[in-house]
Amino acid sequence: MPRANGGLTGRALPPTPDGKGVNAGQRARDNLVGARVTNMLGGMGILWNCVAPRLNPAVEHWEGIDGDEWSTLYRYAEDALAVGTSVSRGRQERVLGLLADLGARPAPVAARHHGAGVRWTGPAEVLPADGSWQLIPELSVQRLTHRNGRVVSADAVALDTGERVVIEAGAFVVATGGLRAPALLWASGIHSEERPALGRYLADHPVSYGQLVLDQDLAEDDADPFVIIPIDGDRPFHSLLLCDAYDANLLEGRVDERLIVSLYWYSLSRPRHENRIRFTGQAFDATGLPQPTFEYTTTEAGREVARAALEDLRATAGRLGEFLPSSQPRVLSPGSSLHVMGTTRMGVADDGHSVADTHGRVWGFDNLYLGGTGLIPSATATNPTLAACALAVSTADRVRRG
Ligand SMILES: Cc1cc2nc3c(=O)[nH]c(=O)nc-3n(C[C@H](O)[C@H](O)[C@H](O)COP(=O)(O)OP(=O)(O)OC[C@H]3O[C@@H](n4cnc5c(N)ncnc54)[C@H](O)[C@@H]3O)c2cc1C
Repeated sequence: MPRANGGLTGRALPPTPDGKGVNAGQRARDNLVGARVTNMLGGMGILWNCVAPRLNPAVEHWEGIDGDEWSTLYRYAEDALAVGTSVSRGRQERVLGLLADLGARPAPVAARHHGAGVRWTGPAEVLPADGSWQLIPELSVQRLTHRNGRVVSADAVALDTGERVVIEAGAFVVATGGLRAPALLWASGIHSEERPALGRYLADHPVSYGQLVLDQDLAEDDADPFVIIPIDGDRPFHSLLLCDAYDANLLEGRVDERLIVSLYWYSLSRPRHENRIRFTGQAFDATGLPQPTFEYTTTEAGREVARAALEDLRATAGRLGEFLPSSQPRVLSPGSSLHVMGTTRMGVADDGHSVADTHGRVWGFDNLYLGGTGLIPSATATNPTLAACALAVSTADRVRRG
């Protein structure tokens, strides 16, 4: 991602000779420094923690999709991802017991169980293995050619050979992530003049984080715990407790790994028109798409929620154990949630505040659709991927109907 032009030392970083890697136009204070993109089949869903909760309909849903429709879409998405409740016993039940009055519950996770083994799933696995589709790997789509509100081809380059490839189809779905979907549209001449919301309303979940050593009596040889405390009207954050990577070099085997738990407290984030990514065409990423320049700042109200989340995380952790000295509770850099939302947001009217309708179809186009978390238009705190998959079900149905 673009690095700030001016690092910890305050010195300006020179742009790389070919303009890749460093975006000299990025202002450090407006950067979404924690944001990342992936270049792989399955996207970030190859790396994800498989935690797949539904959004809270009372707090996080938006106009244009009613409750019954959400239920149907969620069921399809959950089925495709094999979402079920984390069934870990031992440590998970003990943690749940200690946090019962806070509304803690087993996390819904995307996983298939085979006997004693688990195969974690993700968006890469939703297509049926029936030969009805073709996957062309190692292609970077650089531009969509369109005429009179119809996309006629996607123009791609083979990353290994540099060969140009033109793909023609009746319908096109851009699902290149919350940062690269607007980049591809922009590179295709779909600019903010015609679609003023493109790249705007950039939202990220401010995340408070810390790693905890559970009290010794919680050590058990069981499946790792996955626990959430969902957001509700009185508590504007979504909490997640799970076992993930820790800095083994710092610990050098001095802590029983079964006792290390990561705490992620995602704060409700209200989309703001001012927060955006913009493209200048001056800087390009490794795949040849325009690099985003971030204009992202937080408000005092947003920082207040993040501070409350951090305090809540500390208080919750106090019931379970002690923080690792190397991973004390803190609010991570903007973008660290890896939940980029809003940059291609959906809406109920082509009023300049959305890029696509509630089926993901880009306003003004007959056959151009969007997928991914960039479509999420409203204030949320919950992990967004299941919701994005649910929206994809709706889009797929719309594309099928033509
Ligand atoms: C470590 C980690 C843990 C996470 N854990 C969770 C979790 O537990 N729960 C949760 O809900 N979310 C989690 N997330 C976030 C989740 O993975 C993302 O929300 C989700 O993958 C976003 O989906 P997307 O389709 O919008 O974008 P992406 O997953 O980024 O997919 C974009 C795809 O487009 C491809 N692409 C980009 N540009 C081009 C181009 N020009 N041509 C062709 N292809 C292109 C990319 O290679 C990629 O395959 C996690 C993310 C990470 C990194």
